[in-house]
Amino acid sequence: MVKGKHVQSEAWFARARKVLPGGVSSPVRAFGAVGGTPPVIRSASGATVVDVDGREYLDFVGSWGPLILGHAHPKIIAAVEAACRRGTSYGAPCPQEIELAEEVVLSYPAIDQVRFVSSGTEAVMSAVRLARGATGRDVVVKFAGCYHGHVDSLLVAAGSGLATFGNPSSAGVPESFVRATRVLPLDDEGAARALFDAEGDAIAAVVIEPVPANNGLLIQRQEFLATLRELCDRAGALLIFDEVITGFRLGAGGAAAHYGIRPDIATFGKVIGGGMPVGAFGASREIMSRLAPEGDVYQAGTLSGNPVAMTAGLTTLRTLHKEDGWRRLEALGVHLEQTLAPVLAESPVPATLCRLGSMFWIAWLADGPPRSAAELDAEADRFYAKIFHALLEQGVALAPSAFEIAFLSLAHTRADIDRLALALRNALARAAG
Ligand code: PMP
Repeated sequence: MVKGKHVQSEAWFARARKVLPGGVSSPVRAFGAVGGTPPVIRSASGATVVDVDGREYLDFVGSWGPLILGHAHPKIIAAVEAACRRGTSYGAPCPQEIELAEEVVLSYPAIDQVRFVSSGTEAVMSAVRLARGATGRDVVVKFAGCYHGHVDSLLVAAGSGLATFGNPSSAGVPESFVRATRVLPLDDEGAARALFDAEGDAIAAVVIEPVPANNGLLIQRQEFLATLRELCDRAGALLIFDEVITGFRLGAGGAAAHYGIRPDIATFGKVIGGGMPVGAFGASREIMSRLAPEGDVYQAGTLSGNPVAMTAGLTTLRTLHKEDGWRRLEALGVHLEQTLAPVLAESPVPATLCRLGSMFWIAWLADGPPRSAAELDAEADRFYAKIFHALLEQGVALAPSAFEIAFLSLAHTRADIDRLALALRNALARAAG
């Protein structure tokens, strides 16, 4: 149980607000959706993070997805320390980037070559440019409720029901930047067919999170993704799977292997960097040959493929393989489902657990699991804020938003999951009272 005040966190965050917009380096961390002051974190190990007041939290955020082995995994720390001693960046090819590329090519369906970048946003931004360059077309199709980083052309308000022309959902994105973006609803083959009938010849790419995990967890039907594959093939458009969350988390072959559907381009981030700033995108040799220096699509990065970040990623993937990681995570996920189901059954607000592998999310709906953004309850945030804070007080950290998912890592034990269930039971009882 977490006791005491947050004196140090409050003091640090007051300083943060003076010099960092909102006190943070990335918006959701500011607790805008749940209220209150975020704990300022001093250290982390395994499944636990510790704040500057010395309070410990059982962590299901995992740095928003990268830490599939848990925090400060001894193998990662040792490998990164050794890599640092040999220099942090060379601006030249290094063995680690070649080995990590080989690992990706070997693991992921339909990828012959890969290019490393430093974030998921960069990976998607570059993939979209590559798709436009390779097809000579401009239009990019995305889906309501899918997030692809803060790429200008993909920061488009979620339309619903029918295909809509995009309106920028951020100031600073000129309308002209999103004029070639189309937004479709998830889980709707008819809308996708209608858009391809109308302007299939102009479509460069369809970009989708094959397991949408940024607006809750909206697990798609295989047939829907297969339809997108078929429509792209027929129109000569490219299918981009944004596997920034799912890549190397669902398994070595990501969502592509899970669904048995091969995208033309795949993007990666999070797990592939083992907690360091890494992204990547990959495709067939033919498509990747369009990239500079071989081709005419420009893309570059000073710290791309640096030996420290590559070492963290490589060690993560090798450890997952060696320690039977994905099978163990699935077993933990099954335990989570069995343990939380009876707790959620007693929730004062109807709730459904959505889970795929080591990703999970509570949908505050009676008739879940939802498959599209339109099914979500926009008011869920208010109830979730109570649950979130009641959990945090008990030393359990979920993401500070009703629409962000949670992650299991190999550092979590069955006992940790039992602790989550107990804390959730208490939180729900408190919220009801
Ligand atoms: N794509 C997806 C599917 C993501 O979940 C994210 C980040 N949550 C991104 C892209 C952007 O990655 P980054 O935050 O590393 O830029």
